[in-house]
Amino acid sequence: MKEEVFERYVQAGKVASSILQKGADLIKPDVSLAETATLIEQMVIDEGLGVAFPVNISLNEAAAHDTPSPDDKRTFNKGDLVKLDLGVHLDGYIADTALTVDLGEQDLLVEASVAARNAAIAKVRPGVTIGELGTIVAAEIGSRGFRPVANLTGHGLDQFRLHMGPNVPNIGGVGGAVLEEGMAIAIEPFATTGSGYVSDQKRVEIFSQMAWKPVRMPTSRKILKEIEPLNGLPFARRHLKTPKPDLALLRLVREGVIHSYPVLADVPGSFVSQSEHTMIVTSDGCVVTTA
Ligand code: MN
Ligand code: MN
Repeated sequence: MKEEVFERYVQAGKVASSILQKGADLIKPDVSLAETATLIEQMVIDEGLGVAFPVNISLNEAAAHDTPSPDDKRTFNKGDLVKLDLGVHLDGYIADTALTVDLGEQDLLVEASVAARNAAIAKVRPGVTIGELGTIVAAEIGSRGFRPVANLTGHGLDQFRLHMGPNVPNIGGVGGAVLEEGMAIAIEPFATTGSGYVSDQKRVEIFSQMAWKPVRMPTSRKILKEIEPLNGLPFARRHLKTPKPDLALLRLVREGVIHSYPVLADVPGSFVSQSEHTMIVTSDGCVVTTA
């Protein structure tokens, strides 16, 4: 990896880490989710960096992909388990980092995802397979009496690309992709009291452009114009200034121009914790950019 690219990853990571902590401190009972999201994203902009994806604030059985809607009235409640997942980029080089705020009594569940992440990070070096990392993650979570979420994974990162190979599983396996020096990867174990699988919910707030082709509907054109500077990075419905975007968003999804990211949740009544860092694989280990 070129030195100037490495430096950008490190700078994005430093900012992301500091804002994630400040964001976590905002999360308390009766505080508005919408206000929290706006404040966190504004902190990124104030630092002169880019918001790599809408800040994810996912509650309880929801594992990921929730973010406030334009008219969101929700507040945090005592007992909530809150996943806060933040993406920051500098010239497209992304820091992706998450933690779980426990407003109830889920300390062991939170500890499970943190311990799994840290144990996996300790093993990262060139030559290690993603199967080995998944095995470590699953063991740390399983030994505490919880399940890892089998259908969510960590991932590789590249300029303006949030998710690419290799996928880093949260379940045990043998072999698979081999880590190489210079890779940027995010490791993000999810631990759950539920089934160990998340499914798409009806609620959809996050989208990203996946194809660049002409569209007819004027509202669709306005939306595409508006999201053009994102270079394919995700956006939220609440970010759009285009009036009444919902029908156009549906059509853009159906036409294969944008991708939608429904909220992902385990079974009702369960709790899911998440812990995530981004790192660069070096010759003898890794540099965690979001530490
Ligand atoms: Mn993330
Ligand atoms: Mn991630």
